[in-house]
Amino acid sequence: MGIWMNAKETAARVRAQAAEEAARLRAEGVVPKVAALLVEGDPASAYYANAKKKLAASLGIEFVLAELPRETAEAELVGLVSAWSRDESVHGIMVELPLPGHVSAAAVAAAIDPLKDVDGVTPANKLAVMTGEAGLYPATPQSCILLLKAYGYSLEGKNVTLVGRGQTVGLPLFHMLQREQATVTVCHSRTADLSRHVKQADIVIAAVGRPGLLTADMFHAGSVVVDAGINEAEEGRVVGDVDAEAIHTAAAVSPVPGGVGTLTTALLFVNAIRAIGLQQEARRDVETKGGARA
Ligand code: NAP
Repeated sequence: MGIWMNAKETAARVRAQAAEEAARLRAEGVVPKVAALLVEGDPASAYYANAKKKLAASLGIEFVLAELPRETAEAELVGLVSAWSRDESVHGIMVELPLPGHVSAAAVAAAIDPLKDVDGVTPANKLAVMTGEAGLYPATPQSCILLLKAYGYSLEGKNVTLVGRGQTVGLPLFHMLQREQATVTVCHSRTADLSRHVKQADIVIAAVGRPGLLTADMFHAGSVVVDAGINEAEEGRVVGDVDAEAIHTAAAVSPVPGGVGTLTTALLFVNAIRAIGLQQEARRDVETKGGARA
């Protein structure tokens, strides 16, 4: 029987750190503020946006939630996000996905100032994740790595099988895992023998969105399994991509709920605090260059 890699303690530590930083900024006269855009129509998005609002309040971070009707035109959404990008009192911007079909998520993301992009969705931050340059990296991949480290699992030299290559989790995680010196195998919907790739891995990370895709028989006694999947099951229950029976065959499994997702929301606000530092740095750079020219 393996252990559950619960994120409760790590998330509490991360939240305390974010609250401490927020208090320090307030004492310096900076009130940390995040603005989030929610287009009505997706109950799960509304739930997550409200959970973030509650967490922000507990951390001492202001949170503005703009809820707009489903039929709002793309130009109006882009206009609102652009205004937040220009507004110096707003330090972080989040856009709740999915957006309705008539709106291009890429167009809205492109309107976010990369220095305020706490979800890491702008082209500049996607590039930073690939190259390892400083930037705002997406919270869920960070959460997968932090959870492993919190349980003492190093990634260096390990065979990691990543199941899923989506834009939000799998793809950025692929780059981040390589920088942790892991050897990464990426599986997706066309992978011929998923079970073989999962079985040969020291560490398996699931980021698919298919309940029970990874079954207990795919693991061995040394498998360490991080489940980033979030799926709605019967009676409104939330489950991951890994069958709960895996706890009987693997060494460690992260639970859903109570694992990656718990840490992700906390890390979003760490990104927001980090964003403030990046914005202050950028302003100092401009002043120095301006001063040098004068
Ligand atoms: P996505 O963009 O839809 O990507 C899903 C990936 O899974 C794709 O690469 C797809 O392959 C692959 N896939 C689909 N069916 C498969 C199969 N049968 N076998 C192997 N691979 C398969 O999803 P995402 O946005 O990256 O999100 C992935 C999961 O993470 C979702 O459950 C989402 O809810 C969850 N999530 C969790 C958090 C958190 O905080 N815990 C945050 C964000 C998202 P192809 O590329 O071939 O299509």
